[in-house]
Amino acid sequence: MDRDLKRAVVQAARAMFSEGLVVGSAGNVSARAAGEGAMHITPTRVPYLDLTPEHIVTVTFEGDPIEGEGLPSSESLMHGAIYAARPDVGSVVHAHPVHASAMAVRREAIPAFVDEQVVYLGGAVEVSTYAPAASEELAENAVAALGERRAVLLANHGTLTVGRDPGDALEVTRLSERLAQIWLAASYRAGANLLPSTIVEAEVELYRMMQNEGSA
Ligand SMILES: [Zn+2]
Repeated sequence: MDRDLKRAVVQAARAMFSEGLVVGSAGNVSARAAGEGAMHITPTRVPYLDLTPEHIVTVTFEGDPIEGEGLPSSESLMHGAIYAARPDVGSVVHAHPVHASAMAVRREAIPAFVDEQVVYLGGAVEVSTYAPAASEELAENAVAALGERRAVLLANHGTLTVGRDPGDALEVTRLSERLAQIWLAASYRAGANLLPSTIVEAEVELYRMMQNEGSA
């Protein structure tokens, strides 16, 4: 089972690279491991196109090595903090998509403006308070800004998304990037409309129901 999980991590990481959601060896993908308090995560400094399941490193939520030769991603702390805070999460993807990162540089949330966003992501994509990459503070800030939702912008940095498995978490990254792209285009001039707040509230309820079904 963990072998399949590692393969899913590799597939998502390679897709993330091929789709231009990161360049070079930036970004990272992880999956919650079967054991308590452990995760499988992409290593640092292995080119994505060379990545195989054997390269995936197993570490504790604090980033201490359990299995594997490679050096775990420098953002292991952030991934671990999410798993510790969100028992419903099976996978975490961190990427640098252009439009979502532009919103993160502006330190502006992507507000709730299309129905699928609220139903699948849980509402607006909020921005975490700035903290340097790989710091413990960034991990704490990301957890706080993510809340119960599935996507968050990391100030002046990129995105962090969560899902049941790596394919699902990557799909949330794609959707977040698309939303940022639409929002930047729509808000280029004044007059972009948000969803009515009563609709957002109803859709958040639907999101919560779907999340509970998924983790049951
Ligand atoms: Zn990054």
